[in-house]
Amino acid sequence: MGYAELRELQNALSTASDIAFSLGAEPAPHETEPLMEALRRAVAAAGSLGAGAGPTGCPEHPRGPVDPLYGDKEDPLPPGWGKCLLCNDRRRRAGGRRRGGRH
Ligand SMILES: [Zn+2]
Repeated sequence: MGYAELRELQNALSTASDIAFSLGAEPAPHETEPLMEALRRAVAAAGSLGAGAGPTGCPEHPRGPVDPLYGDKEDPLPPGWGKCLLCNDRRRRAGGRRRGGRH
């Protein structure tokens, strides 16, 4: 488990580093958003490393519920989402207007 978290941390940091070095001096918000996302992944991975990795791997809710859709092949979670149901619900609410809207 710890090894997977470490790989996630390394990948996220590498991604963040690549983006950071590709930015100009005055990046637009849409350019920094992927950087923020990579850094959030790095923080989450680092937190779960130090927290002894609860079932969710989430630094905020290490003992919270795991998202039942995590690892689901037919309805996969968006890239960058973790196993934490509480955080994923928060993301769903935040992105509901863009993703949802199915009548
Ligand atoms: Zn969480």
